[in-house]
Amino acid sequence: MNHLLAVAALLCFTTLAHAQQRPLKVLVLHDMEGLAGEDDWREFISSYPDLYAKGRQLLTDDVNAVIAGLVAGGATTIDVVDGHGSGNPQPDLLLDKLDRHAKMVERDKPFDPYVDLVAPGVYDAVALVGMHAKPGSKGFASHTATLGMELWMDGMSLSEPEINGYSWGRVNVPVIFVSGDDHLKEDLKTMPWIEYVVTKHATSASTVDLLPVDQVHAQMTESAKRALQNLSRMQPMKMAAPVQAALHARPPANLAFMDSVPGISYADNTVSFTAPDFGSAYAGLKKLMRGAANGYTSVLMEVIRKQPNGPELLRQYREALFTRWVDFESGRWLPPPPVPAEIQNAGRKFHGDSE
Ligand SMILES: [Zn+2]
Repeated sequence: MNHLLAVAALLCFTTLAHAQQRPLKVLVLHDMEGLAGEDDWREFISSYPDLYAKGRQLLTDDVNAVIAGLVAGGATTIDVVDGHGSGNPQPDLLLDKLDRHAKMVERDKPFDPYVDLVAPGVYDAVALVGMHAKPGSKGFASHTATLGMELWMDGMSLSEPEINGYSWGRVNVPVIFVSGDDHLKEDLKTMPWIEYVVTKHATSASTVDLLPVDQVHAQMTESAKRALQNLSRMQPMKMAAPVQAALHARPPANLAFMDSVPGISYADNTVSFTAPDFGSAYAGLKKLMRGAANGYTSVLMEVIRKQPNGPELLRQYREALFTRWVDFESGRWLPPPPVPAEIQNAGRKFHGDSE
């Protein structure tokens, strides 16, 4: 074969090989509590800039290790969404260091990364990186959704990977990979098909024994690759309808204010209800969580009382409350009209929980 013919044949072959590559689209949702090399909860909260900067680098390294595996496993599209909520309005990921095979999900309005991206045919698989165990599991930073909440459906207290599993299961998309601490691995006995990588061993909700980060990254790459190669063995999760749902509050959250309200099913800091399906159960639990989060204000009050000017701050608070009341009753103050969403969100970009 002469040189030109050889080049033509090679071009033809690579074009053919490219055309034959099946599109394989993967969503990577990241959290930030289950990262390799992370041993301090301040590394996943943006109000501690130095420690948070370390956490962002650890997050980027974990996500890139998983992306490398997904690419090796045949992924043709990889989108990344922020499932954390560090308090930083920007993505927690260092986007300039994100593997070029992936791009960050970007929307013009706020969205819930667990449920609002779910649609048929958009993704073939979901990978979850940096996840944490559920409340009561003794994992590092163990919680579901936010501090002190247990989200129950169908008789089970759900971890965040399970919520994602049931959410994506509605359109027959499986969760194929999860990374997090050794306690989350125990929580996920409900998902025996997943490739799971242990990033560290939790010794309490705020302490861990770390594992060698390079070794963990190598496992992440290998497991993510294997997960995608075994996609046909992965199982979409199905929640039977109707759904018995309940929110159980544990400190610092509190639902005791719902006790003895007629028509409300309440017992032991738990409010329960029946919902027609997973989506409405999850939406109802989110609303109840806002009520249970009122328990956080008792901690705020403890903090204020400890301040040297605590009594004066509390006096100003009471004065502001009374002034708001009498001004409204006198017609001197009206609640500001809600800002329309298109004005509120103009020029802003949303990447998941980072807003
Ligand atoms: Zn989380």
